Amino acid sequence: MEHTEFRVKAKEMVDYIADYLENIRDRRVYPGVQPGYLHKLLPKEAPQLPEKWDEIFRDVDEHIMPGLVHWQSPHMHAYFPALTSYPSIMGEMLSSALNVLCFTWASSPAGTELETIAMNWLGKLIGLPDCFLNEKNDSPGGGVIQTTASEATLVSLLAARTRALMELSKLNPELQASELLGHLICYCSDQAHSSVEKAGLIGLVRTRYIESDENQSMRGDKLEEAILGDKEKGLVPFWVCATLGTTGSVAFDNLREIGQVCEKHAAWLHVDAAYAGSAFVCPEYRHWLDGVELADSFAFNPSKWLMVNFDCTAMWVKDSTALHRTFNVNPIYLRHENSGKAIDYMVGSQNPNIKKKSLKKINMINGVSNQIITNGDETKLKDEKLMNGDIKEKVKKDINGNVNGDDDDLYDDIEPNNLAGYNKMSHGCGEDIQLEDPNKKEMLHWQIPLSRRFRALKLWFVLRNYGVSGIQKHIREGIRLAQKFEALVLADQRFEIPQPRNLGMVAFRLRGDNALTERLLKRLNARGYMHAVPACFKGVYVIRFPITSQRTTNQDILDDWDEIKTVAKEILMDVFG
Ligand code: PLP
Repeated sequence: MEHTEFRVKAKEMVDYIADYLENIRDRRVYPGVQPGYLHKLLPKEAPQLPEKWDEIFRDVDEHIMPGLVHWQSPHMHAYFPALTSYPSIMGEMLSSALNVLCFTWASSPAGTELETIAMNWLGKLIGLPDCFLNEKNDSPGGGVIQTTASEATLVSLLAARTRALMELSKLNPELQASELLGHLICYCSDQAHSSVEKAGLIGLVRTRYIESDENQSMRGDKLEEAILGDKEKGLVPFWVCATLGTTGSVAFDNLREIGQVCEKHAAWLHVDAAYAGSAFVCPEYRHWLDGVELADSFAFNPSKWLMVNFDCTAMWVKDSTALHRTFNVNPIYLRHENSGKAIDYMVGSQNPNIKKKSLKKINMINGVSNQIITNGDETKLKDEKLMNGDIKEKVKKDINGNVNGDDDDLYDDIEPNNLAGYNKMSHGCGEDIQLEDPNKKEMLHWQIPLSRRFRALKLWFVLRNYGVSGIQKHIREGIRLAQKFEALVLADQRFEIPQPRNLGMVAFRLRGDNALTERLLKRLNARGYMHAVPACFKGVYVIRFPITSQRTTNQDILDDWDEIKTVAKEILMDVFG
């Protein structure tokens, strides 16, 4: 395709997209296709010769579109919203055309700086404290756009793991990191998203699930009880994930209580606010953020409810040096002159004045008790008198709070790369290259991949084109429609809402046996008019009904409710006659 054809066909594509979104209500939201349908329709091999664009696009219309779930439909109620919007699509178009990779400042100065600016705007918009922003030169906090909430959770866990391993390695120099790893344990509620479990599996650490209370909320007392029990067994609590807006019922963990426990036991606190984070653009929902200043990292998905299309997960950390320690590689081909003022989201230098403060904290609490000895099969904790020499003195200073002005010296000789088996320096050049680099200690790595898309553009477009007032209006309208649906359900004696509605999602069920609601959902999805998925909390099966589209109207809600009542009537007739 050359320029001339592109000008014509791309304009046609824009019309196709606008028609699609304008008329999306008319489409069956859930496709009626069977697995393997597309294999029967498309050739087994790529064409030998170039094909005409019109022929290619005819296949999209005839074969691809009928096999899609239409996520932008007002009758889509499955999962959580994954909204897009015109300014976001424009950002995506331009970013695809530019195709710049923003891993270092030098690889795309404007791309990198716009990401920092947009993340500062967004952080302020949802009411995050200043410590998470990257505005002051001597602040180690900052935001980065990750692909998914799952990735943000993993990045956070890995950063906390490195912090804990460095700590334990210093206290137990005779032990390998692989041996220390077996002592680490992290926590989340029994309502946390499966991505937390996955992060623990990838990070090779144990995960303990804390039983949530009657509101599906993780509370500080239960967490502390578990942490104390685990410490007794010689384990080292190092990371806690609190959820704001659980997947099943949009429940909120008690951030302040959990934050205080984490502070006491020097565990890293990550906040997963994947869906609910968008609601914090409205001040009336920020009470759930109470205690957020105690967190070490915080993430939510503008790609869910904020109309920034997938992928876009906003993640902030209080201490970006913790990420650096974790993802520390420094190949020659990624280096550039950096005065210390530029952020490199993949590799680069941060302000050299940043102090590594957080390691001190973990020592103050766990320093005495975290020294580990392995005695046959039994693992015990050493007490303070078993500590040796300098370390003991330094740790003691920390414990007594007599920090001597430079709390970094305790860690000066610990490089993450010295942790056996971890963060092995590899520069892809066949051997490690050790160049003099005055900024080496401050080099920052904010994510797992090297290459990163120019995602800030679409986020910035949405923030500017809707403005704060437009975004708040969108969130409030979604919640108003959820309240409307809730009222309809509550007014019908055949149904119940076992957990109070929070924000834009109602979890409802038919009264009686779980099997009734299961049958209802199955039949609703088979009919394809609306689409929803289930959740189960404490043995109670529910249909989740989030409002997912900015195009949903009162009438759409009434139509969905009619559909649900029609199918429910059939099911109840089948079962009870
Ligand atoms: N955390 C929570 C609370 C979620 O609800 C979800 C998905 O809905 C995730 C994490 C995973 O999000 P992602 O698909 O961005 O990894």
